[in-house]
Order: sequence, then structure tokens, then C-alpha cells
Amino acid sequence: MGEPLGREARQRIEDIERPVLDDRSYRITTLPNQLEVLLIHDPKTDKASAALDVNVGSFSDAEDMPGIAHAVEHLLFMGTEKYPKENAYNQYLTSHSGHSNAYTAATSTNFYFELAASSSKSAKSSPDSTQENLSISKEDSPLWGALDRFGQFFICPLFLEDTVDREIKAVDSENKKNLQADQWRLHQLGKSLANPNHPYCHFSTGSWKTLHDDPISRGVKIRDEFMRFHDKHYSANRMKLVVLGKEDLDTLEQWVDEIFSQVPNKDLPRKRWDDMAILTEKELLIQTFAKPVMEMRNLMLSFSYRDEEAFYESHPSRYLSHLIGHEGPGSIFAYVKEMGWATGLGAGGSSVCPGSGLFTISIKLTEEGLKHYKEITKIIFQYIAMVVEQPPHQWIADELIRMSDVEFRFKSKVAPSRTTSGLASAMQKPYDRKMLLSGPSVIRIFDEKAIREAMTYLRPDNFKLDIVSQDFPGGWDRKEKWYGTEYKTEKIPEDFLAEIRQAFESKERPAGLHFPHKNEFIPNRLEVEKKEVDEPLKAPKLIRNDENVRTWYKKDDQFWTPKASLFVNFRTPLPTLTARTQVIAGLYRDLVNDALVEYSYDADISGLVYEFSCPGTGLSMCVSGYNEKLHVLAEKVLLQIRDLEVREDRFKVCKDRMLRGYRNSYFTQPFHQVGSYSKWLRIERIWNFEEQLKEIEAVTAQDVANFFPLFLGQCHIEVLAHGNLYKEEALQITDMIERTIKPKKLPPSQCGGRRSLILPPGSNVVYEKQLKDPANVNHCIEYGLYIGDSQDRALRAKVLLWAQITDEPAFNQLRTIEQLGYVVFSGVSLLETWIGYRILIQSEKDCHYLEGRIEHFLSSFNKRLEDMSEEDFEGHKRAIINKRLEKLKNLTQEGNRFWNHIFSDNYDFLMSQEDAAHIEPLTKSDIKSFFSHYICPTSPARAKISVHLIAQAKPKPPTAQEQKTKCITMLATILKAENIKPDMQKLQTRIQDISNEEQNIGEQIAEKILLHLNEDLKLEKEQVEKVNDEARAALGVAETPDALVNGDGKAVHGIGNGTTPVVIRDEDVGGWKAGLQVSKAMRPVKDLEEFLEAGAKL
Ligand SMILES: [Zn+2]
Repeated sequence: MGEPLGREARQRIEDIERPVLDDRSYRITTLPNQLEVLLIHDPKTDKASAALDVNVGSFSDAEDMPGIAHAVEHLLFMGTEKYPKENAYNQYLTSHSGHSNAYTAATSTNFYFELAASSSKSAKSSPDSTQENLSISKEDSPLWGALDRFGQFFICPLFLEDTVDREIKAVDSENKKNLQADQWRLHQLGKSLANPNHPYCHFSTGSWKTLHDDPISRGVKIRDEFMRFHDKHYSANRMKLVVLGKEDLDTLEQWVDEIFSQVPNKDLPRKRWDDMAILTEKELLIQTFAKPVMEMRNLMLSFSYRDEEAFYESHPSRYLSHLIGHEGPGSIFAYVKEMGWATGLGAGGSSVCPGSGLFTISIKLTEEGLKHYKEITKIIFQYIAMVVEQPPHQWIADELIRMSDVEFRFKSKVAPSRTTSGLASAMQKPYDRKMLLSGPSVIRIFDEKAIREAMTYLRPDNFKLDIVSQDFPGGWDRKEKWYGTEYKTEKIPEDFLAEIRQAFESKERPAGLHFPHKNEFIPNRLEVEKKEVDEPLKAPKLIRNDENVRTWYKKDDQFWTPKASLFVNFRTPLPTLTARTQVIAGLYRDLVNDALVEYSYDADISGLVYEFSCPGTGLSMCVSGYNEKLHVLAEKVLLQIRDLEVREDRFKVCKDRMLRGYRNSYFTQPFHQVGSYSKWLRIERIWNFEEQLKEIEAVTAQDVANFFPLFLGQCHIEVLAHGNLYKEEALQITDMIERTIKPKKLPPSQCGGRRSLILPPGSNVVYEKQLKDPANVNHCIEYGLYIGDSQDRALRAKVLLWAQITDEPAFNQLRTIEQLGYVVFSGVSLLETWIGYRILIQSEKDCHYLEGRIEHFLSSFNKRLEDMSEEDFEGHKRAIINKRLEKLKNLTQEGNRFWNHIFSDNYDFLMSQEDAAHIEPLTKSDIKSFFSHYICPTSPARAKISVHLIAQAKPKPPTAQEQKTKCITMLATILKAENIKPDMQKLQTRIQDISNEEQNIGEQIAEKILLHLNEDLKLEKEQVEKVNDEARAALGVAETPDALVNGDGKAVHGIGNGTTPVVIRDEDVGGWKAGLQVSKAMRPVKDLEEFLEAGAKL
């Protein structure tokens, strides 16, 4: 049978159940090699995507090589026979505004990418074009080229020898990044203490030790091992492919056929782990106490459970998690919260793998709660007993069925790669193919029997208990193998267990525990009035603008979903007056939210949510979701904001939580902390964590009660009503807000505008700060250049384009080649009116050194710009223009965008179109002069401020042998980037000559490399200089330019642009800021009156 005929004969499923507004077409089919494919034709998409999921994951890791599945995920992408250049795939994606990613889970590995749906030519002519491209040739479709490159990874991967060590290093960095993260530490502890015969106990990330050193010491050839793993587990019949594009289904099918039919099929069985429990008798009825890195207190109950894959029409565990995880009146959470014992609760069943599952209940405890963990455990069992002693209630299941149905019907689109990746993973599950989209979320039937069965797992003899606390009970006598988490584990004491059994069996239980009430928030009216428009409006209209109230409104004209958002800003300068008022405002916010938990829970699970916050400009409220009952929730929140009763007991809980939050922030990754310092240095009136932390202790409940009425007593109100709402409703809601809060007028002149500090030309400032975590070895630098006023459109366009041009080179140079650290990021920085450019690196190398490498990278850009072809330059322009003009995917995105423009005071609703229009005419010479003025380190006009966060601890220095091994991989990477043919044998010989006793091994290696480049490889002088320089950088022995501050922080006169570096520390910041000018405030792009609806103007 010929190939086309084979295609004709194959089964195709197209009538897939889908959301009401879904305008895509779907087709599921299976290729001759048993690879199952889902094709999605989306005529309106501006991005195409594909994902492939393989049914093998870390559960299949060899016992003696933890992390091998993960390492194979990394290595699979290192070159293919058809496209041997290792970065051919990523380069192709970047040039089409795309990106890729992958992850390894327990039973599957998932690879995906996303890129522009149309080729640059067609995209440029009409970026907003929504017409269907009926037939697109391969050459014109970026998707085809990407699919071909992507497909080869599964057809003929090369596992390029010289990339093996580097990718293991990447895996090792990933693991190192997680080592201090409690989430990873505690998750692994749970795994490590599970049934040792179940692969759940594996360590899945892998490290240099498990994937390199250990196997080598056993005489294992690593690369061979990886290839064997691939050979054994990767097979077409275990793969699920999803492709989403603009092309019609027949075209997509033809392309997929052509490429993916070549993936070898080995007819491997689907993996199952039956007759093997995650928790056996040995692991059940155990209590484990673990010590976290952060200040946190948790109680967790884990029940051995079943896998529910086959029950996707009834999802029985959701009945249980709905009740146990409820936060409304009568729930476990409401009860323990009222006691002052808990601040959060979650519950749910999960199918860990085909064959078994877990049901977990996890509670965030207060200090008091920790003292009462036994009572809490008993309360949980009392509640479970109440639930399971009655047959499952039809009305509860009906609520869940109704809500899951509504959620699915009005589900909005998400990024294409999330769609493809998620569906490829879902295809590994046994859903009826017509229910592939709905299966994971929709509950269709009330299966009483299945729920009854599910209930039988939640028994007092089928669970284990975990307690996490930094200081209770002490005496942790063991250390988890992979992360070093301290813990102690033992049988649950018999008397405690007896109490639990008693609580479970007794009919007596607190009156505070009962089933939830009927949920009044489940929407009934879901009609949408659909009025076709030629072109959706790009901005909301101003429908009210008087002295103290402004209302913006847009009725949805493109997404047609029964949802809406209401944003309200109560503008007042009071909360940010001092660090103390800011703390008071924060506590007020927390108390309001705390008081609304029980009430808002029903709304929350019915798709209607609220947020109350205190950003810098006052107080802010947002309510969004199904519009039918939106005003009910909005009014309730407003009343709570106005009438908050500050209770002493709740104040204490909120204050403790805030204190803990601030203290814990010191133990987050340095790159998470750096932003708050750079913000503090760029705005005149703002208080950093330490300044606030100092105030919290002294703030009392009375302070909050006295102060919050002042916030609302006088403020300006600005509203955005957006979505499935009528104008009259928007105006009524505005009236309701005004009526409820009744503020005195606050003239705009007293509101205060958004301003930032101006760094004068020639600025060369380094802010230094020691990190508080004594165990952390990572430094972090944020190197920031001030460019100017973010409302200057021409300047803005240049910064955006500059950031696009440097994006990939910065990453490639600083991370891949120089290996400075796992976290390397560059891009535009925007804050109030500040627009700038920044490079952020987190590294074990010190900030002084990093600063030198960044300057070096920037200096090299002159030549790079010089060498850049016009074609590449235009490619960058197109990529950034495409990004700016990317289509809005759903109502939420549109609402958030409008609100950002209102909230930031610029009312620049057409900003992205303006950006694109200003980028379009830019030439290479524009960017060259931009570079030499604002960026180039030798420019006297440039203005720089770096934040240096300095680690207290030092990493373990590498041994001589480690340095030698590392330098080989490192040089291979550099030579590859420079397209130079390596000769590793000769380098190896030279390096091995160095005695391990040498004092300065790095310097020695660098010398040998220089000899190698000159004598063995006989490179040109220019090449030698570049490679040598990069090699020295990666070895950590590059010179630090004189222009910088020297090691002890003393300023040295600069050679660069002639400026003198200024080092400032906390005590200098006030004075330094005082010496700077403040920018103009953010201004509306046009007179607000011009936004008034025709007719509304007087
Ligand atoms: Zn990874």
C-alpha cells in the first residue's frame, strides 16, 4: 500500500468535545509507527507550537544512576544527523521569535517549542491579519522548519560526545540551584522515606556525582549509558505528539507524516507499577519531623491512595478534596483558623503513576498551631469521619459537576506551547479521545460507588504524618541523602494513635465542624450578548470623569465569555509616607483578606475571585470572574474594607506571618532579592525590607484600627469595568463604590505622581550589600544602565531593540561560554519613568569579577554590531515587533493590560503599536550611535549603577583534578562557538603535565591553553586573543579592569570613561539619593478628556 493511501485509510477523530468559544479544529490520528498525533488548526493564532511527550521518566532511572532520564532529556537535543550543529534548533527558533523547553516527570518526558506562526514577510505586511491562510508552503512556514529540526531529535539524535560533560554540568547546576529550596528538600524527603522498592523513592534531578563521577569510578562509559537508556525506552509507540499551527489539518498531517513517521517504533509496553504501593506497612503510621531552611511550620498527612486514571468521568477524589480542603463555614480550615492555629490548608488526591496514588492534607501552622498539632490531626479525622459516615451527597457532586462544566465551557486560550505541552502529556492517559480536552477537568457523572471506595482510603491506619519546623522538636538525628535535610523519624506513639482512632470512631465532634452550605456563587446566567465588530477597540472609554471619580469602561468585543473584571484604585499618598505607615497599610490589607477567607471561598471555587492590595499609590481592589454575581462579591469586599474590625488575635496571626515573610526573604535566592534593592535605589520615596522590618515589632492592633480610616477618609477613586458588562452596570458599580466608601475629595495635585531618580551622565555607582544567609555561596550582581524617560518613544524603541539584539549573545557569552552561573539574565528595566538596560548574574564568582566580565561583554559589542549583517539586524527588528504586536489571548490579558496603563498614569493604551511603529524605521547606524552613547563602557555620557549582593560563605574550592577536567569541557565549548576544530588529545597531554601540587592551578591551566592555541592549533593572532580571553574568564582568572572598584571597596580612578566609581552602602544611600534630581512625573499620553465617549463631553 502506497504512503498516501495509507494515510487515507487511517482512523481520524475530529469531533472532540471543546469549549463553546473554541474556534480551532482538531484531529487525532496515529502514524504507521504507532505514534499518536493530535493536530490543531488555529486560523487566528500568531504563534505555532509543537510538543512531544514520551512515556518514560525518572521512575525508569537505573538504581545506580539517579537522574539519567533527566540527563537524556538534556542530551537528546545535542545535535542530530540531519542538523549536526548543536544549536541549530535554538538558533532557528530565536530567529522566528520562538523558544523551547522540556521537563522530565516521573513517568514521562515532555519537549516543546513555540514560534511565530507566519513567516516574517507575511507577518510584516499585516500583523493583525486574521484571514485564513489556506495553503502555506513549507518554505513560508516557520513551523515546518521547526518541526523538521525538532523531529530529528527523536529520529537520529547524536548525543554529541563533546556536549556530554557540559550538559551534565547544566543538570548539576540545576540541582545546586534547588539544594537550599525547602520545596525540593521536603519533597525529596517524602520520596526518600517511601517504599524503597517503588521508584517513587528515586532522586530524579541527578548531579555531577551521580551522572559523572560515580559511573566513571565504576568504569561506566557515560555517553554509552545514556544512549542505551534512550534505546531501551524511547519508542514511537510511547510518544504523543501535538502540533498547533495556522495551516489546515491536511497540511499539518502531511508534514507530521513526512517527518515523524521516521521515528523508530520498538513496540514497547506502556509502563505500569502495579502491585507495588508507595507507602507500605513499614512506611505508614510513621511520624517524621523535618527542619526547613526557611522559617515555616507545616503539618502534612499522607494517605496511601489509588491511581484514579480510569475514573476520569467521575474524579472521585475531588468529592473528598472539595470537602476536606473547604475553607468556608464548618470546614476544618475555618475551625483551626478561628483557633489561631493555621493560615492555610490544601487537600487533594494525585495519581502518582499507573498503579498508585497519594491523598495528602497539608496545613500551614501558626506558632500556636504547632503546639496543637495533635489536636489538629484529631480534628482532621473527626471531619473525615463525619464525611465518610454518610453516603456521598448528590447535591455536593452536582455542584462540582456544574462548576467543572462551566469552567470548561468558558475556558480561554492560553499560550500555544502550554496547550501543546499539556495535551501531549494528557494523551498518555486513557481518556476517551473525544474527551481529551475535557477529561482532565470535567466531572461528568456522580459515581456513588467510586466515591465510597475512595473514602475507604482515609483511615487512621493508612496514613503517615510529617511535621516541618525550624525549632520543634529538635534532636533531628538524620540527614536526607540528596539535599542534606535534617530530620527525625519514628513510629507514631501508640497513645497518640489511640486518640486519633478514638476521634475517628466517636460520633461526638465539635459543633463547629459541619458540611458546607449550598454555594450561592455558582453562576446560572451565562449569556453573552455577541455583537460582531469590524475591529475590536484597542482602548477603554472614559465614561465618567468628575472631580473625585474616574470610570473607564470597555464591553468585551472579541472573547465572548460571561466574565468581567472590576479594578478600583483608591489613590492616597498616606500608606507610603513612612516605613511605619507602609507596614500599617500592609497589616490592614492582610487583616481584610484574613476576615474574608470564609466568605469568599465559595466565590473562589466558583470562578469569581477578588484581590485587595496596597501598592505604592494607595489601596487597590480587583474582582474578576463570572459577571453574574460580581457585584455581590465586590460589595462585600468594600464593606469589609470600610468596616474592618481589628481583632487582637487575628492581628497577632497576621503580624507573625508578615514578620516571618520578611525574615524569610533573606533566605531566598539572591537573584530574587536583588530587584527590591535596585528599586529602592531608583525611586525617591520607598522603604526597603529592612526599614520596614524594624517598624513591624512596635506596630499594634490599635495602630491599624486608628490609621486605616485615614487612608479611605480622603482619596481619589479610579475604576475600570471590563468584560461582559453594560455601561449602566459600570456606572452603577461606581456609584456603589462611592456610596460605600464616601471619601472626601483628594485633588489630583495632592495625589503625587510617579517619578524616578535621574542618574546623571557619567554616573558610575556600585551599591554593596552583604547577604544575610550565612550558608549561601552565591553572589548576585544587577548591572543597570540608566537610559532616560520611558515616555520618550524614540528612545524606548531603541532600548527595546537593543535588548532584543543582546538577549541571546549575553546568555551565550556569560552563561554558556564563560560559565559564570546558572542564572544569567539581560533585558529592559522599567520603573516609574525610568527606562534602562540591565544584566543580572548569580554566581559563585564575586561581584567585582562579574562586573568586569559584563563590561568586557559590552565592550565587545561594538565589533559585533559592526559585523552584523543587515539581514540579521532586520531579523531582530521583526522579532521584537512580533513580540510587541502579539495577540491578546483572553479577556484577562486585555483587562490587565488596560489596567496597567491606567494604573501607571500614562493611559498609553496604544503603547505596543507605537513601539512597533517606532522600531520599524530604526537602522543599524541608529543602534550603533545609541550603543556608543548609552551603553559602551568608555562613553563619558553613560550612567551606570550596579547592585552587588555579596555572599558570606565561600564555595568549596575545586580540586586540581576537577579544574583540569572542567577546563577540557570549557575549551571545547568555546572552540565550538568560534567554529574552530578542536584537538582535545593534545590539550589533555599538556594539562596532565601540570602538577596537582601547584599553587595557582587556574593560572597554570590558562598558560597551557595559550600554548595549545598557538602551537597545537596554530590559530590566527586575533582568534588566539579572543579564545584565550574567554578561557581565562571561564577559569575565573580573567583580569578585572582598573576602572572598577578594587576588592576592598576603595575607589580607583577609572581608565574607561574617566569617571570615578562611587561605592555606596546602606548608610550612604539617603545622602546619595538626596544629591540626585527627580524626573518629571508620568503624564497621560493625551488629555484625558479626549478619551471621553462622544456625547459624554459637555
Ligand atoms: Zn533540566
